[in-house]
Amino acid sequence: MSLEQIAPTGPAILVVEDEDALATLINYNLGKEGYRVSLCADGEEALIIIDEKQPDIILLDWMLPTVSGIEVCRRLRQRAETRNIPIIMLTARGEESDRIRGLDTGADDYVVKPFSMSELSARVRAVLRRIRPGLAEDSVRHGDITIDRVAHRVKRGEAEIRLGPTEFRLLDHLMQHPGRVFSREQLLDAVWGQDVYVETRTVDVHIGRLRRALNGGGDGDPIRTVRSAGYALDA
Ligand code: CA
Repeated sequence: MSLEQIAPTGPAILVVEDEDALATLINYNLGKEGYRVSLCADGEEALIIIDEKQPDIILLDWMLPTVSGIEVCRRLRQRAETRNIPIIMLTARGEESDRIRGLDTGADDYVVKPFSMSELSARVRAVLRRIRPGLAEDSVRHGDITIDRVAHRVKRGEAEIRLGPTEFRLLDHLMQHPGRVFSREQLLDAVWGQDVYVETRTVDVHIGRLRRALNGGGDGDPIRTVRSAGYALDA
């Protein structure tokens, strides 16, 4: 089996949690469900990672070294680039006033420790479904393109489009974020995985194949090339 078949393709989730055992457990369980999980144990580091990687969703512990979870949340909500990233707070505090404070600061949901992995996973799915439906559904439509993640089928209008596994993942990733411009490096990380050495030019080759497959019926090119920046699916 090649690397590109086993690397997970799901939403990128950043887990900010300083309890090692809990972080490991979350990593294992969400990874098994196909999420691309990154771990971080410190509030200040989290802010740097979020700037670099723009995760699709963040699990944020309340009590953290350096900068607290609630402060991380507050800072993320102040900036346009990070304002809309869904955040679920992990908290040991059960006090109603603390929960309200968490939601006031801009968290989308919270889970009170101790929680089960199935509860956490249900909350993550629910928040994604509510805020970023393109990431959570089995079937996603954008314009005249439909992608079925379970059956691995793509249609443009009524026409079936045949794609290789890499082109499928590229299209899936672009469809999760219509209108957003991705650099070649970002597409490599998301589609090929972060630990795989592939030349950035490879991205151009696969984008070319994806374009030819999608545009075979002469329906116009939905993929926009942004000079010196990268690629986007037209919003
Ligand atoms: Ca903690």
